[in-house]
Amino acid sequence: MTKDISMKRVAEGLYCFTGLLVGRVYLIKDSDGLTVIDAGIPNAADKIVSQIRAAGYQPEDVRRILITHAHGDHIGGLPRLKALTGAQVIAYEVETPDETDRTVTDGEIIAEVMGGLHVLHTPGHANGHVCYWQPERRILFAGDVIMRFVFMTQPFSFVSPDMAENRRSIAQVVDLQPAVVCFGHGRPLTADTASSLQAFAQRVGAVG
Ligand SMILES: [Zn+2]
Repeated sequence: MTKDISMKRVAEGLYCFTGLLVGRVYLIKDSDGLTVIDAGIPNAADKIVSQIRAAGYQPEDVRRILITHAHGDHIGGLPRLKALTGAQVIAYEVETPDETDRTVTDGEIIAEVMGGLHVLHTPGHANGHVCYWQPERRILFAGDVIMRFVFMTQPFSFVSPDMAENRRSIAQVVDLQPAVVCFGHGRPLTADTASSLQAFAQRVGAVG
């Protein structure tokens, strides 16, 4: 049924799922299994699992689900995805969905993922919003600090409690000079990334 729908490669060992309608969900391959970043809307879980099977894995190969923030378009699919995979759910300490197994703190390194994925507290769009950052490969999972609908934009103000705080978070992630940015909405940025981010941040007044 979903034969022609498969995940897309973003970088070595990094993929995104397709056909989820709202929200972008990522898959990371490590030697001990798979990690999923965010869980999409409620009907995303079955699509995620079917794409994992199509890639030759079993649902139980998903060891961890990392959450960027607890908005419905990021955790709507979480209860079912956790039920289907048995994965450990990891979330930032101040923004934990009900299914959370393990909380992480700002600056903590999740050693099992990509050789060390750093937790960055990036509030504004949500108080407990975090990004995940892999410094050696310069890969950023940006959540909703920046959205990309053809062009990069700030998240919608009506779902973001503190837009000024979010602009500080934009400045924080731009300063990292990522090579790859995986957005919670929109296609990943993989070329001219640092300069595009810098231009965006200037345009929205996040940096001088
Ligand atoms: Zn959001």
